[in-house]
Amino acid sequence: MLRLIFFVFLALILYSLLRFFLKAMSSSEKKRDRKQDPEELVQDPYCQTYIPKGSALKKRVAGRDYYFCKKECLENFIQNKKS
Ligand SMILES: [Zn+2]
Repeated sequence: MLRLIFFVFLALILYSLLRFFLKAMSSSEKKRDRKQDPEELVQDPYCQTYIPKGSALKKRVAGRDYYFCKKECLENFIQNKKS
């Protein structure tokens, strides 16, 4: 009888561990999915570098949105457009 209780107890521990791991796995997958959106790559029209949209500098020029990797690229691009 004592052995039966022990096995039931063991099964319960294994079950809760399994549930814990499944939960941890699915939540980390969700985190990765949410991260994917701002990681979309956009091209810097000045230096032709690809940067993640989330960390790019956005500037609207002549009705179009441009993304730049740094402030210098933005300024140089606008200067080139003017001249
Ligand atoms: Zn750049």
